This record gives sequence, C-alpha cells and structure tokens, in this order.
Amino acid sequence: MRLDVVTLQVAFGVIALTLLVLFYGVSVRRSHSTYSKWWCAAIACFLTGTGLYLLDGTDHQVWANPAGNALLVGGSTCVWAGARVLRTAAPRPWQLLAAPAFTLIASALDDPAANTWSAGGTLLGCMTFFIGLASIETWRIDPGITTAQRPLAIASGVLGLYYLGRWLAFLAAGPHSELFGTYFGTVPTTLLTMVLLIMVSFTMATLSTEQALRDLRAQASHDELTQVLNRRGFLDLAHAEIGRLRTSDTPCTLILADMDHFKQVNDTYGHPAGDTVLQAVAAACTRSARSTDLVGRYGGEEFVLLLPGANMDTAELLTGLISRTLRSMQPTFDFPLPTISYGIAPLAPAGADRIGAAIAAADTALYAAKNLGRNRASRARH
Ligand code: GH3
Ligand code: MG
Ligand code: MG
Repeated sequence: MRLDVVTLQVAFGVIALTLLVLFYGVSVRRSHSTYSKWWCAAIACFLTGTGLYLLDGTDHQVWANPAGNALLVGGSTCVWAGARVLRTAAPRPWQLLAAPAFTLIASALDDPAANTWSAGGTLLGCMTFFIGLASIETWRIDPGITTAQRPLAIASGVLGLYYLGRWLAFLAAGPHSELFGTYFGTVPTTLLTMVLLIMVSFTMATLSTEQALRDLRAQASHDELTQVLNRRGFLDLAHAEIGRLRTSDTPCTLILADMDHFKQVNDTYGHPAGDTVLQAVAAACTRSARSTDLVGRYGGEEFVLLLPGANMDTAELLTGLISRTLRSMQPTFDFPLPTISYGIAPLAPAGADRIGAAIAAADTALYAAKNLGRNRASRARH
C-alpha cells in the first residue's frame, strides 16, 4: 500500500488549520498567554510552508520551494520560542529570523526550479537544531509548574530525534534513497507531525487552563490593594501550616497589627493617601517577616502574621522591626506616617480552633496596647 502524498498533505493542512482556528479562538484569545501565541505562529508557519510544497512541479516551484523551507524552519524556531517562554524570556528577533533567512538564501541558490529538495541539508539541520533546543527547554521546565511538562517534553524529544534521523539519512543516502523514502520521507514525516501537532495542542490547552486556574486561585486568596493574603487566604494557609506543626513541639506565634489613629489619615489627607499607607505597612510586614511566615490583611487597617517556629520574644522583636521598617519609608511620604500597635499571642498547644483562639487572644492584647498609649506591642496573658 502506498499513501498518496498530496492527499496526505491536504489532510494535514485541514487538521492543522482546524487546530489553529480552535487553538487561537479558544486558548489564545481567552488566556492571552505568550506560549500559546508562539504555538499558533508555529502551526501557521508549518501550515503555509507545507501548503507551498503543493506548488512543487509547477512554474511556482522556483519561489515556493525556498519560501516553504524558510517557513518550516521559522515554524521550528517558534516551537523553540514557545518552549522557552514557559521558563524564561522570549528569544531575540535575530535569533528567530537568522535561520529562516539563511535557509531561504541557501534554497534560492540551490536550483529551486528543478530541485524539490533545494538546500535540504540546511532545512533538516536547522529544524533538528531548533526542535532539539525546544526539547531541552521543555525538559528544564519545573514539573511542579504544570502536569503538561512530561507529555510536552516527550513529544518534542521524539520529534527532535526523528529530525536528527532524517537529517543524517538525507546527508548519508540522499532524498531519493530507499532508506530516506521509507522512514524519513514526506509520508512518515507528515503522519508523525499530525500526531504530534494534536498532542502538543492538547497539552497546550491543558497548560492554559492550569495557568488560568492558578491566576484565579491567587486572586481569590490575596488582597488586591496590598498584595498580601486576604483573610480567607491567610486562614486557609494558617490551618494548613499548623496541621504540619502538630506532630512536633515547635512553637508558633500570631501577631495582630493595627494602625494607630488611621482614620485621621483618611480624614486629613484623603482615602487614596490612606491606601498608600496600607500598601507601605503591608510591604513593611512582608520585608520584615521570614519567607516561612504568613502575612495577611485581616480587614480594614489590620494585618495578621503567623510565625511558625517563633516564640513570643522573637515575635516581639519582629513587631519592632516592622515599625522601624515603616518609619524608614517616611521620606517617600509628604505627611507623617501613623504608628502601629500590636497584639501577640502564642498558639495554644491543642484545641478545636487554635487559629481562631489565638486571634481572639491577640485581639485582646491589641486592645490593651491601644489603652496603654498605642505604638507598642502587648502580649496575651496565658
Ligand atoms: P485606633 O488607633 O484606635 O485603631 O484608631 P483608628 O482610627 O485606626 O481606628 P478605626 O477602627 O476607628 O479606623 C479604622 C479606619 O480604617 C476607618 C476606615 O475608614 C479605614 N479603612 C479601612 N479600610 C480602608 C481601606 O481600604 N483604605 C483606606 N484608605 N482606609 C481604610
Ligand atoms: Mg482597626
Ligand atoms: Mg486602627
């Protein structure tokens, strides 16, 4: 049985076009993710490039064949760019354009009117190179970021190896050899590319969904104004954190921080000025705390911190550090920054709602700090 090349290429074109439309319509427009855009660009390049090969054997072959080659190489550089932006920044324009431009020139100089494999060695070498780079980039994506990392890495690795085989067979035996025709010719390549195109598009769609979910979760658990956790996000993480602590006797301390006479800031300098103060306090808390501490906006002008592993003394030192950090930001404000009062409470060793109980105890201590004259920390009594 011999598969008809033109029929196969038309089928490939139809599949690629459908994927492009679906992928662009559903994934790119909705998620605006950069890697989806690169993947669309890659499909578009492969599609047009393969389409131009249909002009082989006509008068147009002289320009269509080099252009098709350049587009296929361009498509593989887009695959590389798409894999790269998942990990780091996009490649520079010259890194993307150099190889297609070189292939175009090499093909144009290689009798493209008669030679359907004009600059075939350059074409296959460049594609092997960029698909190889793409698979290296994909292997290096942190698997924790997405469940799609492994299928993507396998797909690009298989394609890279296949193109290496094609390139070597082309150089060793030529495009008209039995070896090349059977294993690396247009028919097997088109079939393999179809499978991989569908596989990668499918995984890319998974990737977009995962990214959208991650963004939504982050939004739902963080405060928009100050970027620290909101009350719900803080409580969720705090409960998870003490669940981990329970087995050991590690101490754990909670701090409630409340701005002093904050209403006056709003009343005197306006609500937007008050907002910038809240952002400064959140920044002071985050900068002073360790990366393992939780910082949240508990409500209005009140912040809450959970310090796993810290005792009351350590927590009190931290309150001093937060106040000093806030004072050091004074030069960027043209009105006096308010001070902060703190209530500190240890987490009870056991109980039904240890976080809730600690917050209530810290709130009582905070009230005492306010009554004692503000701008100070007060400890909960055991
Ligand atoms: P005290 O020292 O007793 O805590 O006095 P206070 O003025 O800080 O206390 P009070 O609870 O009376 O005022 C809190 C103020 O915080 C009132 C409210 O307008 C303000 N506030 C709450 N949320 C926001 C916010 O998102 N932005 C701004 N600018 N102000 C807020
Ligand atoms: Mg308050
Ligand atoms: Mg207050």
